[in-house]
Amino acid sequence: MKTDTAGSPAPTPASALQPSRTRCFSGIQPSGRPHLGNYLGAISNYVALQDRYESIYCIVDLHALTSVHEPDRLRRQTLEMAAALLALGLDPARCTLFVQSHRPEVTELMWLFATVTPVSWLQRTPTYKEKRQNQPEDVNHGLLTYPVLQAADIVLYKASVVPVGRDQAAHLELSREIARAFNNRYGPTFPEPQAAFTEAPVVMGTDGVRKMSKSIGNTIEILADEATIRRQVMSMVTDTLRIRRTDPGHPERCNVCQLHRSFGDDFEAIWDGERTARTGCVDTKRLLADRIIARFAEARERYAELMASPATVDRILDEGAERARPIAQATIAEVRERMGLR
Ligand code: ADP
Repeated sequence: MKTDTAGSPAPTPASALQPSRTRCFSGIQPSGRPHLGNYLGAISNYVALQDRYESIYCIVDLHALTSVHEPDRLRRQTLEMAAALLALGLDPARCTLFVQSHRPEVTELMWLFATVTPVSWLQRTPTYKEKRQNQPEDVNHGLLTYPVLQAADIVLYKASVVPVGRDQAAHLELSREIARAFNNRYGPTFPEPQAAFTEAPVVMGTDGVRKMSKSIGNTIEILADEATIRRQVMSMVTDTLRIRRTDPGHPERCNVCQLHRSFGDDFEAIWDGERTARTGCVDTKRLLADRIIARFAEARERYAELMASPATVDRILDEGAERARPIAQATIAEVRERMGLR
């Protein structure tokens, strides 16, 4: 998988990053089963980078507490996300997967980082402004501090590469700034993490105008049953300039055509069919649904098996947290020493 990176003035191709001993880290919210945007924007890179870097991935249940307040729901969604990541290709033999709250060192580092982070940096974060609007009844302190916890997550493991969707670019930049602020005050301690994007860094939703997102409800659920996937794909808004079946299409404006890029090398032939009106939007959507269903068929089976065996998933997560322990503890010891904590 080709990737590009951001968070620095001139994005560097991920292939140019030093492959040996470089550590990669990413966290994902326990939002239940992931959607196509999560997969094409981030999870596909988690899987690809397992073999390139020492990879650590975690399910960020502490972050989720800023919006999810039902304990049973949080527990269930954490299990679902873990099972989904494993089903989609994370391999515990090649990466470390765990639940954020199982490594409590991260909350200590968050506090230490809070003391080097100006409040103004947090107040200007776009997601903070967005969440304040989305949940005006619940503007909890965690929403403001969210990026400090994220920075702590990444640098606790001294990761240099962070696979995320482009919507996370501003958060990543803030993590870099926080790491830099710490290094400036206490001496060089942390690498400045770089984002690694996929070829589909922003996947648009079924409405064709907004980013695919669970909170908007414009998703394609890749691990859902076939009928659900087909219904979601067939509901997609296509080329709004194409009124009649015989009108020529504009694949560059059509979200369905854009998604075909990720599901076969023949996307140009598909685009040509649209341009010349040989094919209609319905044909192109039907083909996309077939391909999504086929691509994730095995993952869907594996997901069902894992969900039927939560003890297997828990064991993998426990082992992951244990594997992460020495790295986390070494970083905390170093930071405490640097900051003058006895
Ligand atoms: P958070 O970004 O708070 O972790 P999500 O669970 O929505 O929340 O995102 C998980 C990962 O999937 C992130 O790396 C995010 O950038 C990526 N992602 C989410 N939606 C999209 C999308 N529509 N297109 C590309 N990447 C996305």
